Amino acid sequence: MLLLNPGPVNLSDRVRRALLGPDLCHREEEFTGLQTRIRAGLLRVYDLDPGLWSAVLLTGSGTAAVESMVTSLVPPDSGLLVIENGVYGERMARIAEIYRIPIHRASHEWGAEVDVARVASILERDARIGLVAVAHHETTTGRLNDLEAIGRDCRRRGVGLLVDGVSSFGAEPIRFEEWGIAACAGVSNKCLHAAPGVSFVLVRRDRLPADGAVGRTLYLDLATHHREQDRGGTRFTQSVQCLYALEAALAELGCAGGWPARHERYTRLATRTREGLMRLGIRPALPQGASSCVLNAYRLPKGVSYESFHDGLKERGFVIYAGQGGLAGGMFRISTMGTVGDRDIERFLAAVESLLEAHRAVRVGAER
Ligand SMILES: *Cc1c(COP(=O)(O)O)cnc(C)c1O
Repeated sequence: MLLLNPGPVNLSDRVRRALLGPDLCHREEEFTGLQTRIRAGLLRVYDLDPGLWSAVLLTGSGTAAVESMVTSLVPPDSGLLVIENGVYGERMARIAEIYRIPIHRASHEWGAEVDVARVASILERDARIGLVAVAHHETTTGRLNDLEAIGRDCRRRGVGLLVDGVSSFGAEPIRFEEWGIAACAGVSNKCLHAAPGVSFVLVRRDRLPADGAVGRTLYLDLATHHREQDRGGTRFTQSVQCLYALEAALAELGCAGGWPARHERYTRLATRTREGLMRLGIRPALPQGASSCVLNAYRLPKGVSYESFHDGLKERGFVIYAGQGGLAGGMFRISTMGTVGDRDIERFLAAVESLLEAHRAVRVGAER
């Protein structure tokens, strides 16, 4: 089955085999070695200085890392501005609400471009806002938010960015220092092509609060995890086998040319997909150039329900992804992460074509 959903992705043989690594106690030195290598490997993806940045590993899906970042890094006397233009920005606001972190919102329609002037004017009005939370790639619609533009004004004011990079880390450019990023949450099973189960936060060391200074959560407290991991230990049991897979996936990414090569490959696959679907009369939901290289959202063909489109493609060996929330009815999404090749895209396009023909035949039959 070819997975065209935005994670988990089809694994390579090398990554899958790594899952069968030896049993290991997370309190032994072999685990320390594994953890240390992965933490360094994650920083290397974007050439970050380990003296200034720390990669903190968490057991859990991407939301665990996002929740850890949001709850652990906003000081008690500080406010958080959350930029919303899809599910994942809204999720960060919801997390902050649950933990009673005072928030401001810059809300946009789903899929809309972020209004940087509005973000600036909110920051201008309230000097207590010390951090801005934003999803880099809003997987809801495929929109890639312009962190450079958002970060420029924040940086001038000394406001840091908390970035949900879960669906961009490893494939999109992320200029941590230049864009004033304080922390970025990521996950193993999207652009890094590893198995689900491990997430992480890359945090600037000077943004970590002193021990016990925030303390909103026990399990997800980033400062505690960071401290224990820097000492070579781990606060809680880690997903050892998933870490084996992540190490293999990071090695593969390095061999393949790092994130720039992955960016190029995704872009090529997404372009082929978009052009092919457009030839079949299927329109992208966002204007050209607004989407990430990772995922594109499309309008469902007229008269075809998501269920029949999804099921028909699944019968032919392809899993696509629905729209979310209010977009569920009219949209579908295609992501090209994981071991997806050019030939897979050709096969996928042929499957869509045959499915649409089958639909047309049924409709013509019904009209007779
Ligand atoms: C996938 C994703 C997440 C996390 O989802 P999980 O189901 O918890 O892995 C968070 N943010 C974005 C932008 C995502 O695409």
